[in-house]
Amino acid sequence: MSKEFYDRAVRVLPNGVTRPFRFFEPYPFYCKKAYGSKLVDLENRVYTDYWQGHGGLVLGHLHPSTVNAAKEQLELGFHWGVCNEWEVKLAEEVSKLVPSVEMITWTNSGTEANLIALKLARAYTHRDKIGKFEGHFHGIVEPLYIATGLGGLADTPDSAGHDPSSARNTVVLRSHNQESYKTIKKESMACVMLELVSSASHVPEEKEFIKGLREVCDETGTLLIIDEVITGFRLAPGGAQEVWGVSPDITTFGKAITGGEFAVGAVGGKRQIMELMNCKKYPKPSDHVSQGGTYVGNPLSMRAGYAAMKVYQEGSLYTHINKLGQKLIDGLQEAIKDTHVNAKVTGIGSLVKLHFLKTSGVGADLRSLKMNADSQTDNKYFHHLLSKGIFAMIPNEVHFYICLPHTEEEIDELISASRSFLKSLAPLETRTI
Ligand code: PMP
Repeated sequence: MSKEFYDRAVRVLPNGVTRPFRFFEPYPFYCKKAYGSKLVDLENRVYTDYWQGHGGLVLGHLHPSTVNAAKEQLELGFHWGVCNEWEVKLAEEVSKLVPSVEMITWTNSGTEANLIALKLARAYTHRDKIGKFEGHFHGIVEPLYIATGLGGLADTPDSAGHDPSSARNTVVLRSHNQESYKTIKKESMACVMLELVSSASHVPEEKEFIKGLREVCDETGTLLIIDEVITGFRLAPGGAQEVWGVSPDITTFGKAITGGEFAVGAVGGKRQIMELMNCKKYPKPSDHVSQGGTYVGNPLSMRAGYAAMKVYQEGSLYTHINKLGQKLIDGLQEAIKDTHVNAKVTGIGSLVKLHFLKTSGVGADLRSLKMNADSQTDNKYFHHLLSKGIFAMIPNEVHFYICLPHTEEEIDELISASRSFLKSLAPLETRTI
C-alpha cells in the first residue's frame, strides 16, 4: 500500500515527498497513525519513533494535554483570524519560562521566526550585516541558508535559485574559535545568530565560548539571537539558554511551542526590540517591523501550546528524557569501544547522535565531524534500524529525539540494534564481542 502511494506521489510531488529528507530507498512508508513513542504504517507495521515530528514532539504523539485542549477548541472554531485569549495566555507562559522573552510574536514556522528576528535586529541596530555559524541551520531563509553543512560548509547558498546578493551581508563564523570574536569586533553586525546545539549533528556549543560571545556582542552592540527551534522546551523549561546560563537579546522558537503537534514559530526578546513591531508607536511603515501570516496565533495551536506549557513547567519530564538520553549516550559509547568502529557520539539531554567517520583521529568539534561524516554508513545504519522497527531521523544523518513516552526498554532495544550494526562494521578480529 505504501508502494502504491509512492507511485502516485512521484507524479504529483517532487521525488514523491514534501521534504527532501523524508525520502528513503526504495520508497518511504506511509503513516496511518501515531501514539506515544510509536508510528504505524499502512501495512500495520509499528515503529519506535525517534523522528518525533522533526524533534518537536517532546511529549510524544497525542499527549493528553494537547489532545484535550485541541478537542475543546475544535468545538469552538480553530481559525478565526482575530484576537483570542489563548495567544495572550501562551505568551504569558513562555515569558514566565524563558525570562529573556519579555515580549513575543507568533509565526507559523521556525523559518518565519528567523526571518522576523533578522528584521528586528537590523531595524534596532540600523546595521546590515549578520553573523551566522557554519554548520548551524536556521530554516531556508536565504541569508541564513548558507554553510549549513547540508550542502557543505562554504559560504555559498545551499540551494539553487537564491537572489545572488542575498548572502552579501552574511558573515560566516566558526564555533569554538576565537577568530569569530575578532570578526564580530571588526565587522559592524546587526546580530549574530546561532544554535546552542547544532541541529541534526547534535553537537553542543562550549559554554565558555558562548559566555565570551555574549561579552563580545555587548561590547560591540551586536544583538545575540539564539535559535531555540529545536532546543526550546526540550533541554529544560527555559530551553538551552537556561542550561547554558546565557541571556540572548532575541530568541526564536518553533516545534515544541504547541507540544510539537501544530505548526508554529515564535520570536521573543527584550521589550525595546520587540516594540519595533508596535505599529501604534511606529506608524510609519519604514519605522516598524512588519509581521504577516494568515494562521498566526490561531486558537487551536495557541490553546494546545498553553496546555503543553503546563506540562513543561512541571519539570519531571526533563528528568525522564535526559536520563534516557544519557543511557543512550553511554550505551552507544560502550558499543563503539567494544567494536573499535570509527565513530563518535555527541549529544546533550534528549538529543543524541552517533557519527560514523571516514577517518580516524578526528576531533569531536562540529567542523571535524561534518567534514569527516560517512553518510553512506549513516544510510546503512538508518536501514538497519528500520529493519528492527526503529525509526530514526534522517536517512543520511541519523540522529535521535527522545520524548516523554520513550521507555528504558526501548532505549535498550536501540542500543542493542546499534551494537549489532557496529559489530557488522567492526574489524574481523573484534567481531566475536
Ligand atoms: N531553526 C532550527 C534550529 C531548526 O532545526 C529548524 C527546523 N528543523 C528551523 C529553524 C526551521 O523551522 P521550521 O521547519 O519550523 O521552519
